[in-house]
This record gives sequence, structure tokens and C-alpha cells, in this order.
Amino acid sequence: MSTYALRMLGGGTTELSKKDVIQFAANLRGELFTPDSPDYDQLRTVWNGMVNRKPALIIRCAGVADIMHAVAFARRHRLLVSVRGGGHNIAGSAVCDGGLMIDLSHMRSVRIDPLRKTARVEPGCTLADFDHEAQAFGLATPVGINSTTGIAGLTLGGGFGWLSRKYGLTVDNLLSADIVTADSQLVTVSKDSHADLFWAIRGGGGNFGVITSFEYELHPVGPEVLSGLIVHPFQDAKKVMQFYRQFTASLPDEAVVWAVLRKAPPLPFLPQEWHGKEVVVLAVFYEGDASVGKAVLDPLRAFGNPIADVVGPHPYAGWQQAFDPLLTAGARNYWKSHNFSELSDEALDVLIDYASQLPSPHTEIFVAQVGGQVSRVGKQETPYPHRDANYILNVHARWEDPSEDDLCTAWARAFFRDSTPFAMGGVYVNFLTQEETDRIQAAYGPNLDRLVEIKGRYDAGNLFRSNQNIKPGTFA
Ligand SMILES: Cc1cc2nc3c(=O)[nH]c(=O)nc-3n(C[C@H](O)[C@H](O)[C@H](O)COP(=O)(O)OP(=O)(O)OC[C@H]3O[C@@H](n4cnc5c(N)ncnc54)[C@H](O)[C@@H]3O)c2cc1C
Repeated sequence: MSTYALRMLGGGTTELSKKDVIQFAANLRGELFTPDSPDYDQLRTVWNGMVNRKPALIIRCAGVADIMHAVAFARRHRLLVSVRGGGHNIAGSAVCDGGLMIDLSHMRSVRIDPLRKTARVEPGCTLADFDHEAQAFGLATPVGINSTTGIAGLTLGGGFGWLSRKYGLTVDNLLSADIVTADSQLVTVSKDSHADLFWAIRGGGGNFGVITSFEYELHPVGPEVLSGLIVHPFQDAKKVMQFYRQFTASLPDEAVVWAVLRKAPPLPFLPQEWHGKEVVVLAVFYEGDASVGKAVLDPLRAFGNPIADVVGPHPYAGWQQAFDPLLTAGARNYWKSHNFSELSDEALDVLIDYASQLPSPHTEIFVAQVGGQVSRVGKQETPYPHRDANYILNVHARWEDPSEDDLCTAWARAFFRDSTPFAMGGVYVNFLTQEETDRIQAAYGPNLDRLVEIKGRYDAGNLFRSNQNIKPGTFA
């Protein structure tokens, strides 16, 4: 092959000579991969098995210089670009068809400063990488609930998890970041430096450049936290969810409970006769004095007739991985999500009705409790505007066999449609699928205009468009 065909930004392709590409690769400390490279298929594979895109070139960056080279090269040739952190995004936006993929997955260093209680984190880190290093010093910051998720994409959309009611979103704990902008320059952003860009990346996704390093504030957490699961039979779903609503309404910030409706997986603590049957799972977490936490959680544990209760002290880093076995990479996944301020009886009826017709054994309906510190930050202090949502619903269809694609996506869409009248209208940008480009306004609400304006200043040519795209100039 004497040329490589690459997809261009505005559509169409350009032919790059082999010499050009070899010259470019010679300037990298990392590696360049083409469709002929032995590891190519592995490198283009992301968490969601529905995504099957084929970049023409993949650059596995070793450091900031590689990222600057890659961005300059893409811009010079007007190439379609995507940026891969942990590869977890449901929309698969880390991978582009026919373009250049900037792969950061080998940039995984974490440096903890235990005195200042801060962390410097490279963008290829998973949540597990980060927790491993921070917990060595008894520290943590709020991140998500599946430890194989990339910290970069999670942070750039907002980021919430077990610690968020106490310490806010991940972006509320971001102190600064280094970013390679579309003109291939490195800038450090913080509240005192490029404050507009710092604002934009705290929820505005990968629209503004490639983040090469994140600096987070840390908090003393663990090493053990009171946490675990309470599993109820599905026949009690309505009563359990009504009690869940009442109980979560007055919880202190240290406590959080998520509800999951699904078919019971074969967990060792569940009697075998329940495996594969619909259940309601309450996942509980308390960060603080364990005896106080026990008293806070006791009424929930005393309610109804649970099949199992495995709440107790667990290592924080272990609890952060508790859901990993149910969320492994490679399965086919389709999500629909929206936010709720309250869970009315009518909303619960819809939820329970759809949970009684789950299309596959792995499909879940997740109700994540937020509020607390998340709600004390102003709607416009960061691009993430959903500060008044108390619950985030994620309709998570998940299956193995491509022949079930229509069945599973239709179920998720119908559930989303029927629960919409009870929802707030907003959506967390990191839960959007690739087809939901029309929900950008719902993701950013009153912050979209400002994001568009900043995008226009830093990336007027929309080089960074393989994401939930904020188009420069559309609203300006
Ligand atoms: C199983 C599962 C559980 C989840 N749980 C939670 C949860 O509890 N809480 C939560 O908040 N979210 C959760 N998420 C959503 C998660 O935050 C997003 O999927 C996020 O995009 C993942 O980040 P990543 O780096 O792995 O993504 P990638 O797929 O690698 O990247 C997604 C996009 O982020 C951008 N990006 C990534 N890295 C960079 C960078 N360095 N610079 C610029 N742009 C970049 C790019 O636009 C890219 O297209 C979950 C996702 C999954 C699949």
C-alpha cells in the first residue's frame, strides 16, 4: 500500500502517502497502528459490543508530545479524529470510522500528594487505577460505580457515584487540568487560568481539546465503608420502592441508596431458587462513622422480608468494584436515561411494569440517588445543570446475541417513552447513546449557549466532534 485513505472532517476522504505517515510515526514516542497491525482489532474494541468502527490510524500516545503531534497532524490534514480514554462510553465515541483515533489508554500514571490531598491523574486511568493509588493514603474523590470506567470521559461529563452526596460530582472536585487545544498548544486550566475553558471541561465533554492530566481534590475515605446489598422479592416491588422513596428523602449526605430492578444473577449469597427471577436490589453505602451509619440504615434493613442482606463493612476500593462482574466489556448494550425530582406512584407503576418484562437476563433498571452536595452547587457553576435532580434513571438493556438487538432496544425505548411524563426532561450527557444528538439541549439546558460560545473560541473548526457534539456557532 503506497497511500492511506483517511476520512476527513467534513466528509470525503484524503489520501496520505505512506512516506507522510511513516514520517509522522517517527516523531512519536508511542506507537502507530494501522488495520494491518496485529493488535488493531483489540485496540479498536470498546466496552459496548454494539460498537464496531474501524479507524484508519490509531496512535497510542506515550505522553503529551504525542498528543500534540497527533492533534497537529489531524488538523493539518483535516482528519476526522476521536479520543479514547477508558473506552466505556455507551455511544462508542472513542472510536471513529476511517479517521484517526488518539488512544490514551497507556497513559495511566497517578501521583497522590497526601499532604495537599490532591491527585494528578493521566487520562488513560481507569477508576480502579485511581482508587488503588488514592486509597494507599486513605483518600478518594467521587467517581463512578464501575471500576473499569475511564476517569477521563467520566470527569468530562460530570461524574457521580457513591461519594457524590457527600462530596459532589467528580467535576466539583477538579482543581485544574492540562489540555491540548485544537491548535495543538498545551494550556493549563483552573479557576485562575483560562477560567472559561476550565468551566467548559467540567461537564462539556471532549469538545474542547485533549486533556492530558487532571488534578483532583481528595478527601479522607475508608479504608472501610458500610456498604452492601439488600435483595427483595419482586412481588414486593411496589412497597419496597415506596419505602425507598420515603427513606431516601431524608438521608444524611454520608448515606446513599440506589435501587436496581433486574433478574437475580447467580450470586453466592442468594438462595439458588431465586437465580434468574426478578428482584429489587437496594445497594447501600455510608461513608462516615460506622455505628452512626448502622443506625441510619437500620430502618431500611428492617423493612419487609428481604431474601438477602449483605450490608457490612467493606474495603472502599473493593466496594468500588462490586458491580464489575455484572458490567463486563463485550456485551451488547443500549441505554436510555432521564432525571427525576421525585418517584411518584405512577412513575413506580411504569418502572415495575417494565421490570416485569425484562428482555434479557442481564438487563437492569438503575435508579441512582443523587442530591446532597451535588444539589448545593449552582446550575451554572459548571456545564452540568441537573443539580435539582434527586434520582437518575438508567434503563440499561444488555444482552449477548445480535439477533436480540431489536427486542432489547425496543423494550428500552418503550420504557423511556412511558416514563417520560414523570421525568424532569434533563439527561446526563455521559448516558446518551450515539443516536441521541437531539438531546444536547436536554443535557446542558441553560448552559448550552455558553458552551457553544467557548467552543467557537477554542475549536471553531469542530476538530473535536466525535463526542456528544457542541457545534460551534449554532446558537451564538
Ligand atoms: C458500565 C458503566 C458504568 C458507568 N457508571 C457511571 C457512574 O457510576 N457514574 C458516572 O458518572 N458515569 C458512569 N458511566 C458513564 C461514563 O462516565 C461514560 O461512559 C464515560 O464517557 C466513560 O469515560 P471513558 O474515558 O471510559 O470513555 P471513552 O469511551 O474512552 O471516551 C468517551 C468520550 O470522552 C472524551 N474523552 C475521553 N478522554 C478524553 C480526553 N483525555 N480528552 C478529551 N476528551 C476525552 C471523548 O470525547 C470520547 O469520545 C458508566 C459507564 C459504563 C459503561
